[in-house]
Amino acid sequence: MNDIKKTDGKNAGVKKALSQQSSAAKKTAAAKKIAAAKKTAKKTASKKPAFVPDKALLAKGAEVVERLKTVYPDGECQLKYEGEPWRLLVMGILSAQCTDVRVNIIAEELFAAYPDIYAMAEADITKIEELIRTCGLWRGKAAAIKGSCEIIVSKHGGELPSSMEDLTALPGVGRKIANLIRGDIFGFPAIVADTHCIRLAARIGFTEAGERDPYRTEMRLSEIIAPEEQVEFCHRFVLFGREYCSARSPKCEGCLLADICDKNL
Ligand code: SF4
Repeated sequence: MNDIKKTDGKNAGVKKALSQQSSAAKKTAAAKKIAAAKKTAKKTASKKPAFVPDKALLAKGAEVVERLKTVYPDGECQLKYEGEPWRLLVMGILSAQCTDVRVNIIAEELFAAYPDIYAMAEADITKIEELIRTCGLWRGKAAAIKGSCEIIVSKHGGELPSSMEDLTALPGVGRKIANLIRGDIFGFPAIVADTHCIRLAARIGFTEAGERDPYRTEMRLSEIIAPEEQVEFCHRFVLFGREYCSARSPKCEGCLLADICDKNL
Protein backbone atom coordinates (compact mmCIF):
# COMPACT_ATOMS: atom_id res chain seq x y z
CA MET A 1 0.00 0.00 0.00
CA ASN A 2 2.81 2.39 1.01
CA ASP A 3 4.67 1.49 -2.20
CA ILE A 4 1.60 2.39 -4.26
CA LYS A 5 1.32 5.72 -2.45
CA LYS A 6 5.02 6.41 -3.04
CA THR A 7 4.66 5.61 -6.78
CA ASP A 8 1.55 7.82 -7.02
CA GLY A 9 3.45 10.66 -5.36
CA LYS A 10 6.38 10.20 -7.73
CA ASN A 11 4.05 10.20 -10.76
CA ALA A 12 2.35 13.35 -9.52
CA GLY A 13 5.76 15.01 -9.15
CA VAL A 14 6.78 13.99 -12.69
CA LYS A 15 3.43 15.21 -14.06
CA LYS A 16 3.83 18.55 -12.28
CA ALA A 17 7.38 18.98 -13.60
CA LEU A 18 6.27 18.13 -17.16
CA SER A 19 3.35 20.54 -16.94
CA GLN A 20 5.66 23.31 -15.63
CA GLN A 21 8.09 22.62 -18.49
CA SER A 22 5.30 22.75 -21.06
CA SER A 23 3.89 25.97 -19.62
CA ALA A 24 7.35 27.58 -19.63
CA ALA A 25 7.88 26.43 -23.25
CA LYS A 26 4.49 27.88 -24.18
CA LYS A 27 5.39 31.23 -22.58
CA THR A 28 8.73 31.35 -24.43
CA ALA A 29 7.03 30.51 -27.74
CA ALA A 30 4.39 33.20 -27.13
CA ALA A 31 7.07 35.79 -26.25
CA LYS A 32 9.01 34.93 -29.44
CA LYS A 33 5.82 35.24 -31.46
CA ILE A 34 5.04 38.69 -30.01
CA ALA A 35 8.61 39.92 -30.61
CA ALA A 36 8.49 38.76 -34.26
CA ALA A 37 5.06 40.36 -34.76
CA LYS A 38 6.28 43.64 -33.25
CA LYS A 39 9.25 43.64 -35.64
CA THR A 40 6.87 43.25 -38.60
CA ALA A 41 4.60 45.98 -37.17
CA LYS A 42 7.58 48.35 -36.93
CA LYS A 43 8.42 47.77 -40.60
CA THR A 44 4.77 48.38 -41.59
CA ALA A 45 4.59 51.48 -39.41
CA SER A 46 7.48 53.04 -41.27
CA LYS A 47 5.32 53.15 -44.45
CA LYS A 48 3.79 56.51 -45.30
CA PRO A 49 0.42 56.94 -43.51
CA ALA A 50 -2.73 57.45 -45.58
CA PHE A 51 -3.74 60.44 -43.47
CA VAL A 52 -1.52 63.09 -41.92
CA PRO A 53 -3.21 65.15 -39.20
CA ASP A 54 -2.24 68.79 -38.69
CA LYS A 55 -0.91 70.11 -35.37
CA ALA A 56 -4.31 71.31 -34.21
CA LEU A 57 -5.87 67.89 -34.72
CA LEU A 58 -2.99 66.16 -32.92
CA ALA A 59 -3.37 68.59 -30.01
CA LYS A 60 -7.10 67.97 -29.91
CA GLY A 61 -6.49 64.22 -29.88
CA ALA A 62 -4.06 64.52 -26.98
CA GLU A 63 -6.49 66.72 -25.07
CA VAL A 64 -9.40 64.29 -25.52
CA VAL A 65 -7.15 61.43 -24.36
CA GLU A 66 -6.22 63.30 -21.17
CA ARG A 67 -9.75 64.44 -20.37
CA LEU A 68 -11.19 60.95 -20.79
CA LYS A 69 -8.56 59.64 -18.40
CA THR A 70 -9.94 61.88 -15.66
CA VAL A 71 -13.37 60.25 -15.93
CA TYR A 72 -12.27 56.69 -16.71
CA PRO A 73 -8.83 56.20 -15.18
CA ASP A 74 -8.83 52.43 -15.77
CA GLY A 75 -9.63 52.28 -19.50
CA GLU A 76 -10.33 48.55 -19.34
CA CYS A 77 -12.06 46.24 -21.77
CA GLN A 78 -15.67 45.72 -20.74
CA LEU A 79 -15.68 42.11 -21.91
CA LYS A 80 -14.83 39.83 -19.00
CA TYR A 81 -12.50 37.36 -20.65
CA GLU A 82 -10.58 36.44 -17.47
CA GLY A 83 -7.17 36.89 -19.08
CA GLU A 84 -7.85 34.09 -21.60
CA PRO A 85 -7.05 35.36 -25.13
CA TRP A 86 -9.27 32.84 -26.96
CA ARG A 87 -12.21 33.90 -24.80
CA LEU A 88 -11.77 37.52 -25.91
CA LEU A 89 -11.92 36.34 -29.51
CA VAL A 90 -15.14 34.40 -28.87
CA MET A 91 -16.64 37.34 -26.98
CA GLY A 92 -15.61 39.70 -29.75
CA ILE A 93 -17.55 37.52 -32.22
CA LEU A 94 -20.54 37.46 -29.85
CA SER A 95 -20.49 41.24 -29.45
CA ALA A 96 -21.71 42.06 -32.99
CA GLN A 97 -25.00 43.91 -32.52
CA CYS A 98 -25.11 42.84 -28.87
CA THR A 99 -24.27 44.73 -25.67
CA ASP A 100 -21.17 43.92 -23.62
CA VAL A 101 -23.40 43.23 -20.62
CA ARG A 102 -25.34 40.55 -22.52
CA VAL A 103 -22.15 39.08 -23.97
CA ASN A 104 -20.70 38.74 -20.45
CA ILE A 105 -23.84 36.91 -19.28
CA ILE A 106 -23.96 34.55 -22.27
CA ALA A 107 -20.23 33.88 -22.15
CA GLU A 108 -20.39 32.65 -18.56
CA GLU A 109 -22.58 29.71 -19.50
CA LEU A 110 -20.79 29.13 -22.80
CA PHE A 111 -17.34 28.91 -21.17
CA ALA A 112 -18.68 26.73 -18.37
CA ALA A 113 -19.77 24.22 -21.04
CA TYR A 114 -16.60 24.61 -23.13
CA PRO A 115 -13.74 25.68 -20.84
CA ASP A 116 -10.93 25.70 -23.40
CA ILE A 117 -10.37 26.30 -27.08
CA TYR A 118 -10.02 22.58 -27.81
CA ALA A 119 -13.42 21.82 -26.28
CA MET A 120 -14.96 24.71 -28.23
CA ALA A 121 -13.39 23.51 -31.49
CA GLU A 122 -14.93 20.07 -30.96
CA ALA A 123 -18.28 21.33 -29.67
CA ASP A 124 -21.58 20.34 -31.23
CA ILE A 125 -22.60 23.47 -33.14
CA THR A 126 -26.28 23.10 -32.22
CA LYS A 127 -25.27 23.22 -28.52
CA ILE A 128 -23.31 26.46 -29.12
CA GLU A 129 -26.36 27.87 -30.93
CA GLU A 130 -28.58 27.03 -27.98
CA LEU A 131 -26.23 28.69 -25.51
CA ILE A 132 -25.86 31.94 -27.46
CA ARG A 133 -29.42 32.25 -28.80
CA THR A 134 -30.21 35.39 -26.79
CA CYS A 135 -27.51 37.52 -28.38
CA GLY A 136 -28.85 37.80 -31.93
CA LEU A 137 -27.32 36.54 -35.19
CA TRP A 138 -26.68 33.36 -33.21
CA ARG A 139 -26.53 30.95 -36.13
CA GLY A 140 -23.74 32.84 -37.88
CA LYS A 141 -21.94 33.57 -34.62
CA ALA A 142 -21.99 29.89 -33.57
CA ALA A 143 -20.47 28.89 -36.92
CA ALA A 144 -17.83 31.63 -36.63
CA ILE A 145 -16.92 30.66 -33.05
CA LYS A 146 -16.53 26.98 -33.82
CA GLY A 147 -14.80 27.64 -37.17
CA SER A 148 -12.32 30.11 -35.65
CA CYS A 149 -11.46 27.77 -32.78
CA GLU A 150 -10.97 24.87 -35.20
CA ILE A 151 -8.55 26.91 -37.32
CA ILE A 152 -6.61 28.19 -34.28
CA VAL A 153 -6.22 24.62 -33.03
CA SER A 154 -5.32 23.05 -36.39
CA LYS A 155 -3.24 25.88 -37.89
CA HIS A 156 -1.85 27.83 -34.92
CA GLY A 157 -1.32 25.14 -32.28
CA GLY A 158 -4.16 26.40 -30.09
CA GLU A 159 -2.62 29.88 -29.66
CA LEU A 160 -4.17 33.04 -31.07
CA PRO A 161 -2.23 34.46 -34.01
CA SER A 162 -1.17 38.11 -33.68
CA SER A 163 -1.03 39.37 -37.26
CA MET A 164 -3.89 41.28 -38.82
CA GLU A 165 -3.74 38.93 -41.80
CA ASP A 166 -4.05 35.72 -39.74
CA LEU A 167 -6.73 37.16 -37.46
CA THR A 168 -8.94 38.46 -40.24
CA ALA A 169 -8.62 35.10 -42.01
CA LEU A 170 -10.69 33.59 -39.17
CA PRO A 171 -14.44 33.32 -39.82
CA GLY A 172 -16.46 36.15 -38.26
CA VAL A 173 -13.32 38.18 -37.51
CA GLY A 174 -12.92 41.58 -39.14
CA ARG A 175 -10.55 44.44 -38.40
CA LYS A 176 -12.55 45.51 -35.36
CA ILE A 177 -12.09 42.21 -33.50
CA ALA A 178 -8.57 41.78 -34.85
CA ASN A 179 -7.61 45.18 -33.43
CA LEU A 180 -9.24 44.32 -30.12
CA ILE A 181 -7.08 41.19 -29.92
CA ARG A 182 -3.92 42.89 -31.16
CA GLY A 183 -4.32 45.72 -28.67
CA ASP A 184 -5.54 43.96 -25.55
CA ILE A 185 -3.70 40.66 -25.91
CA PHE A 186 -0.52 41.51 -27.81
CA GLY A 187 -0.03 45.13 -26.77
CA PHE A 188 0.10 46.66 -30.25
CA PRO A 189 -1.25 50.16 -30.89
CA ALA A 190 -4.75 49.46 -32.19
CA ILE A 191 -7.94 51.39 -32.87
CA VAL A 192 -11.14 49.42 -32.42
CA ALA A 193 -13.57 51.22 -34.69
CA ASP A 194 -16.85 50.06 -33.20
CA THR A 195 -20.15 51.91 -33.38
CA HIS A 196 -19.31 54.23 -30.43
CA CYS A 197 -15.88 55.03 -31.79
CA ILE A 198 -17.17 55.84 -35.28
CA ARG A 199 -19.98 58.07 -33.95
CA LEU A 200 -17.83 59.96 -31.45
CA ALA A 201 -14.92 60.47 -33.83
CA ALA A 202 -17.25 62.13 -36.33
CA ARG A 203 -19.07 64.25 -33.74
CA ILE A 204 -15.89 65.50 -32.10
CA GLY A 205 -14.31 66.26 -35.47
CA PHE A 206 -11.58 63.64 -35.75
CA THR A 207 -13.24 62.38 -38.94
CA GLU A 208 -15.62 64.01 -41.43
CA ALA A 209 -19.07 64.93 -40.12
CA GLY A 210 -21.40 61.97 -40.61
CA GLU A 211 -18.54 59.52 -41.26
CA ARG A 212 -19.75 55.94 -40.85
CA ASP A 213 -16.94 53.98 -42.34
CA PRO A 214 -15.00 51.88 -39.78
CA TYR A 215 -11.84 51.61 -41.88
CA ARG A 216 -11.52 55.35 -42.54
CA THR A 217 -12.21 56.01 -38.84
CA GLU A 218 -9.53 53.52 -37.82
CA MET A 219 -6.99 54.99 -40.24
CA ARG A 220 -7.58 58.56 -39.07
CA LEU A 221 -7.58 57.82 -35.34
CA SER A 222 -4.45 55.72 -35.75
CA GLU A 223 -2.66 58.90 -36.82
CA ILE A 224 -4.38 61.31 -34.39
CA ILE A 225 -4.14 59.32 -31.15
CA ALA A 226 -0.66 58.57 -29.80
CA PRO A 227 0.20 54.88 -30.35
CA GLU A 228 0.73 54.14 -26.66
CA GLU A 229 -2.69 55.59 -25.79
CA GLN A 230 -4.80 53.91 -28.47
CA VAL A 231 -5.92 50.73 -26.68
CA GLU A 232 -7.15 52.37 -23.47
CA PHE A 233 -8.49 55.36 -25.41
CA CYS A 234 -10.85 53.07 -27.32
CA HIS A 235 -12.14 51.46 -24.12
CA ARG A 236 -12.73 54.91 -22.64
CA PHE A 237 -14.46 56.06 -25.83
CA VAL A 238 -16.97 53.20 -25.47
CA LEU A 239 -17.79 54.15 -21.88
CA PHE A 240 -18.02 57.84 -22.72
CA GLY A 241 -20.23 57.11 -25.73
CA ARG A 242 -22.62 55.12 -23.60
CA GLU A 243 -22.81 57.53 -20.69
CA TYR A 244 -22.49 60.99 -22.23
CA CYS A 245 -22.53 60.96 -26.00
CA SER A 246 -25.13 58.36 -26.88
CA ALA A 247 -26.48 58.01 -30.40
CA ARG A 248 -29.89 59.44 -29.53
CA SER A 249 -29.32 61.90 -26.72
CA PRO A 250 -25.84 63.39 -26.40
CA LYS A 251 -25.48 65.38 -23.19
CA CYS A 252 -23.61 68.31 -24.73
CA GLU A 253 -24.49 70.66 -21.93
CA GLY A 254 -21.86 70.19 -19.26
CA CYS A 255 -19.92 67.66 -21.41
CA LEU A 256 -16.23 67.60 -20.53
CA LEU A 257 -15.36 67.87 -24.23
CA ALA A 258 -17.90 70.61 -25.05
CA ASP A 259 -15.31 73.36 -25.63
CA ILE A 260 -13.20 71.31 -28.06
CA CYS A 261 -15.91 69.22 -29.75
CA ASP A 262 -17.19 70.13 -33.24
CA LYS A 263 -20.64 68.80 -32.19
CA ASN A 264 -21.30 67.32 -35.61
CA LEU A 265 -24.68 65.95 -34.56
S1 SF4 B 1 -20.12 67.96 -26.72
FE1 SF4 B 1 -21.91 66.72 -27.28
S2 SF4 B 1 -21.36 65.78 -29.24
FE2 SF4 B 1 -19.46 66.52 -28.31
S3 SF4 B 1 -18.67 64.76 -27.18
FE3 SF4 B 1 -19.86 65.97 -25.74
S4 SF4 B 1 -21.88 65.02 -25.80
FE4 SF4 B 1 -20.81 64.33 -27.63
